[in-house]
Amino acid sequence: MPFKALGLDAKILQAIAEAGYTEPTPIQAAAIPPIIAGHDLIGIAQTGTGKTAAFTLPVLTCLANAQGEGQSKRGTKVLILAPTRELVVQIEENVLAYAKHLPLTIAKVFGGVGERPQINSLRNGCDIVIATPGRLIDLMGQGHGDFSGLKHLVLDEADRMLDMGFLPSIKRIVQKMPRKRQTLMFSATLSKEIEALTHEFQSHPKIVQI
Ligand code: AMP
Repeated sequence: MPFKALGLDAKILQAIAEAGYTEPTPIQAAAIPPIIAGHDLIGIAQTGTGKTAAFTLPVLTCLANAQGEGQSKRGTKVLILAPTRELVVQIEENVLAYAKHLPLTIAKVFGGVGERPQINSLRNGCDIVIATPGRLIDLMGQGHGDFSGLKHLVLDEADRMLDMGFLPSIKRIVQKMPRKRQTLMFSATLSKEIEALTHEFQSHPKIVQI
Protein backbone atom coordinates (compact mmCIF):
# COMPACT_ATOMS: atom_id res chain seq x y z
CA MET A 1 0.00 0.00 0.00
CA PRO A 2 1.45 3.42 -0.89
CA PHE A 3 1.62 6.26 1.65
CA LYS A 4 -0.71 8.22 -0.66
CA ALA A 5 -3.60 5.89 0.19
CA LEU A 6 -3.50 6.77 3.91
CA GLY A 7 -4.95 10.29 3.72
CA LEU A 8 -1.79 12.20 4.65
CA ASP A 9 -1.27 15.89 3.82
CA ALA A 10 0.52 16.59 0.50
CA LYS A 11 3.39 18.49 2.14
CA ILE A 12 3.96 15.59 4.52
CA LEU A 13 3.91 13.11 1.61
CA GLN A 14 6.60 15.25 -0.02
CA ALA A 15 8.73 15.13 3.16
CA ILE A 16 8.27 11.35 3.41
CA ALA A 17 9.46 10.93 -0.17
CA GLU A 18 12.48 13.13 0.58
CA ALA A 19 13.25 10.94 3.62
CA GLY A 20 13.42 8.01 1.20
CA TYR A 21 10.48 6.04 2.58
CA THR A 22 8.72 4.11 -0.14
CA GLU A 23 5.92 2.40 1.76
CA PRO A 24 4.39 2.46 5.24
CA THR A 25 5.40 -0.10 7.84
CA PRO A 26 2.57 -2.34 9.18
CA ILE A 27 1.98 -0.18 12.29
CA GLN A 28 1.84 2.92 10.09
CA ALA A 29 -0.62 1.36 7.63
CA ALA A 30 -2.87 0.28 10.52
CA ALA A 31 -2.64 3.35 12.75
CA ILE A 32 -2.56 6.34 10.39
CA PRO A 33 -6.13 6.22 8.95
CA PRO A 34 -7.95 5.90 12.33
CA ILE A 35 -5.78 8.66 13.84
CA ILE A 36 -6.61 11.01 10.94
CA ALA A 37 -10.28 10.09 11.44
CA GLY A 38 -9.98 11.37 15.02
CA HIS A 39 -10.10 8.12 17.01
CA ASP A 40 -8.22 7.48 20.22
CA LEU A 41 -5.77 4.66 19.66
CA ILE A 42 -3.47 2.33 21.52
CA GLY A 43 -0.57 0.96 19.50
CA ILE A 44 1.32 -2.05 20.74
CA ALA A 45 4.66 -1.90 18.97
CA GLN A 46 8.38 -2.09 19.69
CA THR A 47 10.97 0.50 18.78
CA GLY A 48 12.21 -0.06 15.23
CA THR A 49 8.73 -0.71 13.77
CA GLY A 50 8.25 2.87 12.61
CA LYS A 51 5.94 3.71 15.52
CA THR A 52 7.16 7.31 15.80
CA ALA A 53 6.01 8.09 12.26
CA ALA A 54 2.81 6.12 12.94
CA PHE A 55 1.65 8.87 15.31
CA THR A 56 3.56 11.93 14.08
CA LEU A 57 2.48 11.71 10.41
CA PRO A 58 -1.31 11.67 11.07
CA VAL A 59 -1.13 14.24 13.89
CA LEU A 60 0.86 16.59 11.63
CA THR A 61 -1.76 16.01 8.92
CA CYS A 62 -4.48 17.12 11.37
CA LEU A 63 -2.47 20.28 12.19
CA ALA A 64 -1.95 21.00 8.47
CA ASN A 65 -5.70 20.58 7.84
CA ALA A 66 -6.55 22.93 10.75
CA GLN A 67 -4.07 25.51 9.45
CA GLY A 68 -5.58 25.23 5.98
CA GLU A 69 -9.02 25.96 7.44
CA GLY A 70 -7.69 28.94 9.39
CA GLN A 71 -8.57 27.33 12.73
CA SER A 72 -5.15 27.83 14.27
CA LYS A 73 -5.30 29.50 17.65
CA ARG A 74 -2.36 30.43 19.81
CA GLY A 75 -1.02 27.84 22.19
CA THR A 76 0.10 24.24 21.99
CA LYS A 77 -2.00 21.82 19.95
CA VAL A 78 0.06 18.65 20.42
CA LEU A 79 1.75 17.28 23.54
CA ILE A 80 3.97 14.21 23.21
CA LEU A 81 5.16 12.66 26.48
CA ALA A 82 8.13 10.28 26.41
CA PRO A 83 10.24 8.62 29.13
CA THR A 84 13.74 9.95 28.36
CA ARG A 85 15.64 12.90 27.01
CA GLU A 86 17.07 10.67 24.26
CA LEU A 87 13.60 9.70 23.09
CA VAL A 88 12.40 13.34 23.21
CA VAL A 89 15.32 14.34 20.99
CA GLN A 90 14.66 11.44 18.61
CA ILE A 91 10.95 12.26 18.31
CA GLU A 92 11.82 15.90 17.61
CA GLU A 93 14.19 14.86 14.81
CA ASN A 94 11.36 12.84 13.27
CA VAL A 95 8.85 15.69 13.59
CA LEU A 96 11.32 18.20 12.10
CA ALA A 97 11.89 15.93 9.09
CA TYR A 98 8.20 15.23 8.44
CA ALA A 99 7.07 18.83 9.11
CA LYS A 100 9.85 20.49 7.10
CA HIS A 101 7.36 22.00 4.62
CA LEU A 102 4.87 23.12 7.29
CA PRO A 103 5.09 26.32 9.39
CA LEU A 104 5.06 24.65 12.82
CA THR A 105 7.03 25.43 15.97
CA ILE A 106 8.30 22.78 18.39
CA ALA A 107 9.57 22.90 21.98
CA LYS A 108 11.55 20.20 23.77
CA VAL A 109 11.29 19.87 27.54
CA PHE A 110 13.43 17.49 29.64
CA GLY A 111 15.41 17.43 32.86
CA GLY A 112 19.14 17.61 33.50
CA VAL A 113 19.64 20.94 31.71
CA GLY A 114 18.74 24.57 32.48
CA GLU A 115 15.05 25.49 32.53
CA ARG A 116 15.35 28.96 31.02
CA PRO A 117 15.63 28.09 27.29
CA GLN A 118 12.76 25.63 27.67
CA ILE A 119 10.62 28.25 29.43
CA ASN A 120 11.36 30.69 26.61
CA SER A 121 10.35 28.20 23.92
CA LEU A 122 7.10 27.42 25.80
CA ARG A 123 6.41 31.13 26.11
CA ASN A 124 6.58 31.55 22.36
CA GLY A 125 3.35 29.56 22.10
CA CYS A 126 4.78 26.58 20.24
CA ASP A 127 2.45 24.27 18.30
CA ILE A 128 4.06 21.01 19.49
CA VAL A 129 5.63 20.20 22.88
CA ILE A 130 7.72 17.04 23.26
CA ALA A 131 8.49 16.42 26.93
CA THR A 132 9.50 14.11 29.72
CA PRO A 133 6.79 14.18 32.44
CA GLY A 134 8.97 15.26 35.38
CA ARG A 135 10.35 18.48 33.93
CA LEU A 136 7.06 19.35 32.25
CA ILE A 137 5.10 19.17 35.51
CA ASP A 138 7.76 21.38 37.14
CA LEU A 139 7.42 24.01 34.43
CA MET A 140 3.61 23.78 34.36
CA GLY A 141 3.65 24.24 38.16
CA GLN A 142 5.48 27.52 37.58
CA GLY A 143 2.70 28.59 35.23
CA HIS A 144 4.45 27.91 31.92
CA GLY A 145 2.87 26.45 28.80
CA ASP A 146 -0.56 27.12 27.25
CA PHE A 147 -2.40 23.85 26.76
CA SER A 148 -5.92 25.32 26.78
CA GLY A 149 -6.34 24.59 23.05
CA LEU A 150 -4.65 21.17 23.06
CA LYS A 151 -6.04 18.77 20.42
CA HIS A 152 -3.74 15.74 20.52
CA LEU A 153 -2.03 14.05 23.46
CA VAL A 154 0.47 11.25 22.81
CA LEU A 155 1.99 8.95 25.44
CA ASP A 156 4.97 7.24 23.80
CA GLU A 157 6.58 4.19 25.42
CA ALA A 158 3.87 4.38 28.07
CA ASP A 159 5.02 1.12 29.68
CA ARG A 160 8.53 2.53 30.18
CA MET A 161 7.13 5.75 31.65
CA LEU A 162 5.20 3.67 34.20
CA ASP A 163 8.32 1.59 34.98
CA MET A 164 10.22 4.81 35.61
CA GLY A 165 7.66 6.03 38.14
CA PHE A 166 6.13 8.79 36.03
CA LEU A 167 2.50 7.82 36.70
CA PRO A 168 1.80 10.58 39.26
CA SER A 169 3.34 13.25 37.00
CA ILE A 170 1.47 11.94 33.96
CA LYS A 171 -1.84 12.03 35.86
CA ARG A 172 -1.26 15.59 37.01
CA ILE A 173 -0.37 16.68 33.47
CA VAL A 174 -3.35 14.96 31.84
CA GLN A 175 -5.75 16.46 34.42
CA LYS A 176 -4.74 19.89 33.14
CA MET A 177 -5.47 19.08 29.49
CA PRO A 178 -8.80 19.82 27.78
CA ARG A 179 -11.18 16.85 28.01
CA LYS A 180 -12.14 17.13 24.37
CA ARG A 181 -8.95 15.89 22.74
CA GLN A 182 -7.52 12.91 20.93
CA THR A 183 -5.35 10.65 23.10
CA LEU A 184 -2.87 8.22 21.54
CA MET A 185 -0.86 5.72 23.50
CA PHE A 186 2.05 3.56 22.39
CA SER A 187 3.55 0.74 24.43
CA ALA A 188 5.67 -2.35 23.80
CA THR A 189 3.24 -4.45 25.87
CA LEU A 190 -0.44 -4.34 26.80
CA SER A 191 -0.22 -4.89 30.57
CA LYS A 192 -2.93 -4.46 33.24
CA GLU A 193 -1.38 -1.10 34.13
CA ILE A 194 -1.51 0.08 30.52
CA GLU A 195 -5.14 -1.05 30.27
CA ALA A 196 -5.91 0.97 33.40
CA LEU A 197 -4.33 4.05 31.81
CA THR A 198 -6.38 3.47 28.67
CA HIS A 199 -9.60 3.45 30.72
CA GLU A 200 -8.58 6.59 32.53
CA PHE A 201 -7.31 8.69 29.62
CA GLN A 202 -8.93 7.41 26.42
CA SER A 203 -12.40 6.99 25.04
CA HIS A 204 -13.29 3.95 22.88
CA PRO A 205 -9.68 3.50 21.69
CA LYS A 206 -8.89 1.43 18.63
CA ILE A 207 -6.26 -1.17 19.43
CA VAL A 208 -3.53 -1.75 16.87
CA GLN A 209 -1.18 -4.60 17.60
CA ILE A 210 1.55 -5.71 15.22
P1 AMP B 1 10.92 3.94 15.19
O1 AMP B 1 10.30 2.59 15.35
O2 AMP B 1 9.89 5.02 15.19
O3 AMP B 1 12.02 4.17 16.17
O4 AMP B 1 11.55 4.02 13.71
C1 AMP B 1 12.63 3.20 13.32
C2 AMP B 1 13.36 3.76 12.08
O5 AMP B 1 12.63 3.48 10.89
C3 AMP B 1 13.59 5.24 12.08
O6 AMP B 1 14.95 5.48 11.78
C4 AMP B 1 12.72 5.79 10.98
O7 AMP B 1 13.31 6.90 10.34
C5 AMP B 1 12.58 4.62 10.04
N1 AMP B 1 11.27 4.56 9.34
C6 AMP B 1 10.05 4.83 9.86
N2 AMP B 1 9.08 4.61 8.96
C7 AMP B 1 9.68 4.17 7.83
C8 AMP B 1 9.20 3.76 6.52
N3 AMP B 1 7.90 3.75 6.25
N4 AMP B 1 10.11 3.36 5.62
C9 AMP B 1 11.43 3.35 5.92
N5 AMP B 1 11.95 3.73 7.12
C10 AMP B 1 11.09 4.13 8.07
